[in-house]
Amino acid sequence: MSFSNTMKSDLCRVISEHKCCMFSELIAMFKVNGVVFEENNCTSILKLTTENVNVAKRMYSLIKDAFNVQPRVVIRKSKKLKDHNIFIVSLNINTCSSFESASDKAGLVNLLNNRDQVKSQCCKKAYLRGFFLGAGSITNPNNCYHVEIVTKDYHLAQDIKNLLNRFQINAKATKRKNNYIVYIKEADQICDFLNIIGAHKALLDLENIRILKEMRNSVNRIVNCETANLSKVVDASLRHINSIKYLKEISELDKLSKSLSEIAYLRLEYPDSSLKELGLMLDPSIGKSGVNHRLKKIDQIAEELHKLKEEHK
Ligand SMILES: [Zn+2]
Repeated sequence: MSFSNTMKSDLCRVISEHKCCMFSELIAMFKVNGVVFEENNCTSILKLTTENVNVAKRMYSLIKDAFNVQPRVVIRKSKKLKDHNIFIVSLNINTCSSFESASDKAGLVNLLNNRDQVKSQCCKKAYLRGFFLGAGSITNPNNCYHVEIVTKDYHLAQDIKNLLNRFQINAKATKRKNNYIVYIKEADQICDFLNIIGAHKALLDLENIRILKEMRNSVNRIVNCETANLSKVVDASLRHINSIKYLKEISELDKLSKSLSEIAYLRLEYPDSSLKELGLMLDPSIGKSGVNHRLKKIDQIAEELHKLKEEHK
């Protein structure tokens, strides 16, 4: 199961205590996912679809608890989604007892169309949860940090974005093909979002992945840094040895000053020793920077002599 689906299944275990919150979550699901259509010219059917069996169960029980009716559930195979199951939870508005009067039915339609009906903080959180369960997804944080909610309705996308912004979450909205996408990118922001909608297990999972990722990155940084230093040292050592060998070849090595020639012979004899170690072999011993200075000087002399020879060829 994908990270997203696992997370949604966990989220379905969140218990809504207040009826107001159940309504809010359900309304959000309807808004991003619901369709109302007429059957046989008279029956209005409200339909919700999902690929996640736990989300389907939640849709079912929310409808049952909120409206006191028994919704119908149908399972279909989706050709588009490689034969995955699609769950369709539907509610016959006309025949359900809570909507005996036309005003009740109008009330539900109003509820679905009203943009500001969710007022209290508890309901707003449930509302966001409904959007996520109805049309949201989260990318596996091992790959990247990304949460999105998809809707066909431009204004709804703006509403969702603004609501998230009011919770101090830096959500953005964009258009992708025929859909509007509300998305959250940074790990911190995603953690806040998961906390708000009550996805506490996913929040812990994400935090764990994040820590591991950061550890892996810093270990890589250290290793890279050490490797870079090491190769710098090896390069320098090879350069010095080449210079010294060149001076020997053109019989210039013994013409160097004593301080330079003694370090040159040590370098040739101990190619794997560090500058510090070479310095300690001298009598009197000198420090690392002194050794470095002398070897650089040898490099310079070799380079100048080489240049001269090339010019007089
Ligand atoms: Zn509430």
